[in-house]
Amino acid sequence: MNDPVAKQVQLHCTNCGHVTTYDGRQTTCPVCGENILEARYDLEALLAAGWPEQLARRKPGLWRYYELLPLLDPRYIVSMGEGGTPLLQVPNLAVMLGLKNLYIKDERQGPTGSFKDRQASVAISVLRELGIEEAVVASTGNVAIAYSAYAARAGIKLWAFLTSQVPGEKMREVALYGAEVIKVTGTYDETKAVAARFAQSRNLFLDRGIKSIAAIESMKTMAYEIAEDLGWRAPDWFIQGVSGGMGPIGVAKGFQELIELGLADKVPSIGIVQSQGCAPMVHAFKAGQRIAVPVDNPQTVIATLSTGRPGRAYEWLWQLMQRYGGAAESASDEEAFEVMRLLARGDGLSVEPATAVAFAGLIKMVRNGDIRPDDVVVVNCSGHTLPVEKHILGDQWARHVDVSHSSQVESLPEEGILSALEQVETTGGRVVVIEDNPDAARLISRILQTRGSYKVEIATDGASGIELVRKMQPDVVITDLMMPGMDGFQVINILKSDEALCRIPVIVLTAKELTPRERGRLSNQIAALLQKGSFLDEDLLQSIIQTL
Ligand SMILES: *Cc1c(COP(=O)(O)O)cnc(C)c1O
Ligand SMILES: [Zn+2]
Repeated sequence: MNDPVAKQVQLHCTNCGHVTTYDGRQTTCPVCGENILEARYDLEALLAAGWPEQLARRKPGLWRYYELLPLLDPRYIVSMGEGGTPLLQVPNLAVMLGLKNLYIKDERQGPTGSFKDRQASVAISVLRELGIEEAVVASTGNVAIAYSAYAARAGIKLWAFLTSQVPGEKMREVALYGAEVIKVTGTYDETKAVAARFAQSRNLFLDRGIKSIAAIESMKTMAYEIAEDLGWRAPDWFIQGVSGGMGPIGVAKGFQELIELGLADKVPSIGIVQSQGCAPMVHAFKAGQRIAVPVDNPQTVIATLSTGRPGRAYEWLWQLMQRYGGAAESASDEEAFEVMRLLARGDGLSVEPATAVAFAGLIKMVRNGDIRPDDVVVVNCSGHTLPVEKHILGDQWARHVDVSHSSQVESLPEEGILSALEQVETTGGRVVVIEDNPDAARLISRILQTRGSYKVEIATDGASGIELVRKMQPDVVITDLMMPGMDGFQVINILKSDEALCRIPVIVLTAKELTPRERGRLSNQIAALLQKGSFLDEDLLQSIIQTL
């Protein structure tokens, strides 16, 4: 750490405004008893010490923001390279949705694959600083995984209380790090109550989740990194699948601090997404209510998001969303699984269901106009695909070649291999794509490639498109409308007035809002019309299959 600034952390009571100096242990306001306290730092001192230039000289990672984190002595830091995750484009989904700037904050790349690594690093460091050797945590999965890893490194014994809905793979990961795993048959809210009783009865330290200073403070580091990656600017939206709301609340606080430091222009609007079967915040937000009605019997297999009683955290989030703008959507488990497949196939991103819920909500926010095409959108993204792969792939995910009748593969007769491989060959039809936008062309071939053995040829303008159709005699033509030189309307005219080509079905994929007259020109000429920026790969595939 280069010349750290002497640390000043004050706790402000969010209820009565009382201020106390942070000592690592406070949990409630000594005046009014409120248990949400907000940490504040001496930002002037940071600027005087040469921020943000000084930051640029530090290694990436969460602890480069040491002065803005609630640890009083850097010797207690427990770190495994958390934070500093990349902001990655999601190009294919962006084309499908018509967004120009769609990013993930790629928290999959943290030490245990979720943004809870940030929380674990700060919280476990604080425990070390306080000399605490044994702690209790309640979790819907990812907190327990991250805490158990960091606790192992810090030599702290951890009791992890998990709801029985957490997938076995995740529970085993917690056990692997040497934590005591306690499965609680019940909801997450009940699990929290059991963990609290256990901690009390044994006089053990209980992690207070969103109410602990470490949690919110760790989350805000995502804001710092996002702003820096965007050139010290805020995105228009921060989107997350939410349970307790810790992520977005922390990120909003991070941007508030950046504004005070002169390093961001605004706080992004907050998009929260919940599982349909457990969406107390979404229901309340849509109804314009500051208080959420608890869901006591969550109906979702996505344990990560199954907090039915958000309590005061929702009020806090609600205030932020009133102030900075926001949107709320829910998504069914099925919708989430479909989006998991879509992101993996289309953009090479393997995300966990809780993140897929966020994307499913994003799709709805784009379609209903909350999010506009030019908005810069960041989705908080976690990994952990393994526990659900078997559920979302079904049985038909591999093809099988059997060469076991031969003892040595090298001696297998050529025809044997060929006839074994013949079973792999399938033909899905020939497709010509006429499209001048390389992103859109790549998207279309990618969709077809992952859904069968289509033979796809691409032409980047109308004239060479016609030539290609003549040569290839495809089963389907997919064309754009707006192209330099010969446009899509002309291409269709030529194809339809040619004896040899007029029976080939044409699908139009366009970014243009068509006038009634243009629609008239296309009617009876084309098999389907898809609007770029408002279709998913499923829609395109459906249209193609129908025409074949
Ligand atoms: C913890 C977690 C959430 C919910 O986070 P909150 O901000 O506390 O609501 C969402 N997605 C993933 C992947 C998580 O690990
Ligand atoms: Zn108070």
